[in-house]
Amino acid sequence: MRLILLGPPGAGKGTQATRLADRFAVPHVATGDLLRDAVRQETRIGVRAKTFMDAGELVPDDVVLDLLLERLTQADAAQGFILDGFPRNPAQAELLDGALAKVGHRIEAVVSVEVADEIIIGRLSSRATCPQCHKTFVLDNGLPATCSNDGTTLMARTDDKPEVITKRLEIFHEQTKPLVEHYEAKGLLVRIDGVGELDEVEERIAKALEAQ
Ligand code: AMP
Repeated sequence: MRLILLGPPGAGKGTQATRLADRFAVPHVATGDLLRDAVRQETRIGVRAKTFMDAGELVPDDVVLDLLLERLTQADAAQGFILDGFPRNPAQAELLDGALAKVGHRIEAVVSVEVADEIIIGRLSSRATCPQCHKTFVLDNGLPATCSNDGTTLMARTDDKPEVITKRLEIFHEQTKPLVEHYEAKGLLVRIDGVGELDEVEERIAKALEAQ
């Protein structure tokens, strides 16, 4: 299973990717998580990426590709992966296809998780993430709160501020959304309504993948 989840920030890609990773026994690979880990560890890539991330801009393609390929060459990704947050633009899609082709693989399906902008803005404004396991929560009554997996104190993401959210949505519409048509033309796309209970959305994705 080599799958891409496409969708705006806050569509629930991360949550669904974790569930699908369990279901299909392949790792969930999120470039946003890889980058946030690099920022936290203050690696060379992390220091370079932070300015872009805090502004809601895309980190340069070559930087993200290096991190991603390093992750995809680890043993647990040999049988497949669920990609979340990559590709973000047509150039990245080309780079990914090229890198996979070199090792005789290809993307088998692309799930577009669709959620309207108004809903996204509400979700992201009340979102918090576990810095340890990356699980995401939507909080009813603000911080602080702890992770249900490991008890770590949750943190709001530095890019979940109103002005940065708007910028990230803008970039999604301009750069990432064209990938929906790109993969549709290749016959790989399934469109999923991302609004509903988590179990429901997961079932929609699983059913659509079966039918594909
Ligand atoms: P995400 O967690 O996917 O919302 O990503 C958070 C931030 O990390 C984005 O706003 C970008 O700054 C950066 N990022 C994540 N994935 C990519 C990517 N594929 N290309 C460029 N920047 C990325």
